[in-house]
Amino acid sequence: MIPFYFAVLPGEHIYSWFARCFWLSGKLRREEYLRQKKVSYTDLRPNEPLSQAMALVCKTAVQFNPKLDLPMCATPMPIWALSMEPTTFLSFLKRYRGNIVSDDLHMREFDMLAGTQEWKACKTCIAEDIEKFGCSMWHTKHQLSGCLNCYKHAARLVTPEKRMSSMGALQLPHQINRWQYASGADSKLSQEFSEFYSRIFDMSIEDAACLSDLKYKFWKLLGIESRSVSQKQLACVDLETQLADTLGIPFLANMFTYYSEGKNSHNCGVLAGLTKIEAKGYRVRNPIFWVTALFWKRRELHLVKSEPAHACAAGIHSI
Ligand SMILES: [Zn+2]
Repeated sequence: MIPFYFAVLPGEHIYSWFARCFWLSGKLRREEYLRQKKVSYTDLRPNEPLSQAMALVCKTAVQFNPKLDLPMCATPMPIWALSMEPTTFLSFLKRYRGNIVSDDLHMREFDMLAGTQEWKACKTCIAEDIEKFGCSMWHTKHQLSGCLNCYKHAARLVTPEKRMSSMGALQLPHQINRWQYASGADSKLSQEFSEFYSRIFDMSIEDAACLSDLKYKFWKLLGIESRSVSQKQLACVDLETQLADTLGIPFLANMFTYYSEGKNSHNCGVLAGLTKIEAKGYRVRNPIFWVTALFWKRRELHLVKSEPAHACAAGIHSI
């Protein structure tokens, strides 16, 4: 008989499941538990799904959750389809499910991205989860880069006061006493962005192919139809300024250090990031570049909240 508590909970991050299993395993030492699972203290990062550690934990979890597609329902993986060609994403998923993952597929861009490296939670969710499930958990959607607000309650997300970039101590939210607000400037726009990101994330779970249609439509909207990366980079210089004027520097500084540090190279902006994603490379960039770009043009792309979730697909095919 499979104990009920080994099931991954709805919306739960796979490392949260991993931590709950430790507390229920009866093992006294975290070191022993991590060693047995071949995972190190520094591996359990919130937003790095293209890693050997996440593949290993999914492999462990699948025996208790055989009906779930864990990479797609319990990790941030679905949204990373934005950062890859569809065929690359599918091939990566296949390798991931077979546990054939190299450990270094993420581009090292910590110095470019703001506030993306720490575990985040919502205090209302913590109370609700304890009430509903008898325990707290880390939610996958709270961990998305640039999200400052809860996808359920719009409440400001919090992060442990003692910096927690990896869940090496296997702590669950209710075991943490001191919290602080996740870094970034809260605003109506940041709340709208978190809600937007949540819906794009749901779309990516439902139909990852829709994302590549959205990207195509975005470039067409900007009047950039060349497939040449260098031509796109050239065309993006003025558009980068338009994007910054529309969204505002304080909002963009929540995601990109480039804006908080007042750098003036167009090489580091959001659109420059998109063109670099399209340049062939071994490592994969964070999807925050694409999510921010789509958020900029959300009205033109019919991605505002009142639109049906799949209006994008219908609109694209009519172009
Ligand atoms: Zn919440």
